[in-house]
Amino acid sequence: MTRTMIFCEVQNALAEPGCAVCRLVAKATERYLDGLLWEGVNDPGVRPQIRRAHGFCHDHAWMLARPGASLGVAILTHDVLQSLLAEMKESRFQALPTWSLRRVQESLDRDQPARATADLVARLTPQAQCPACVQARRMEEVYLDTLLDHLVGKESLLAAYQASDGLCLPHFRQALARLRGEKVFDALVTAQRTIWQRLADQLSEMIRKSDYRFHDEEWGEESGAWLRALAALTGPQREKTW
Ligand SMILES: [Zn+2]
Ligand SMILES: [Zn+2]
Repeated sequence: MTRTMIFCEVQNALAEPGCAVCRLVAKATERYLDGLLWEGVNDPGVRPQIRRAHGFCHDHAWMLARPGASLGVAILTHDVLQSLLAEMKESRFQALPTWSLRRVQESLDRDQPARATADLVARLTPQAQCPACVQARRMEEVYLDTLLDHLVGKESLLAAYQASDGLCLPHFRQALARLRGEKVFDALVTAQRTIWQRLADQLSEMIRKSDYRFHDEEWGEESGAWLRALAALTGPQREKTW
């Protein structure tokens, strides 16, 4: 994707509800998983990566459970299971000597990991990160940097940012860690404070109207503020793909 395309994506996402980076990363992850299912299944470069990661993290694994994906998922998971079975082939219980101190400690404390199975546990531990997580982190950085690089100056996204729901707290923290320059800092923090203050005011209004004395008052922009607040603090609710 070109820089202009990414800029346009960020600009458009700022006009949509919720954190623009969350929205864009979710879309990019969908595209990545689609590509993986339809083209990457037979890509010899991708398969070892998936094998080392033992598949995907919980969220991304279940994002693959969608209509039309059964064959692709079958091929990928078959591959992972074959490699896990190979790891388990030579496994044996590596018993400790009867009177070893470790054996006594383990018998007294179930939370001590068993040394007799430690080797197999290590072999079944992923040796790489979930490939979809890796891709999501990469895209997250691209989108955050695009926002930061265009927040002030020519073609500024500041007005669009001010009118948006702002970044969610995790992405706001990440943006702060990635930004360089006081002007960008001032613009970002001022805008984010205004956005969160607006949300806090809406929550106050919602709480006030929940009082029986004000029950008859019509609901305005504060309706749904509690859901927007949850999203602001943690990112949006993950949609079930199936
Ligand atoms: Zn976010
Ligand atoms: Zn993942």
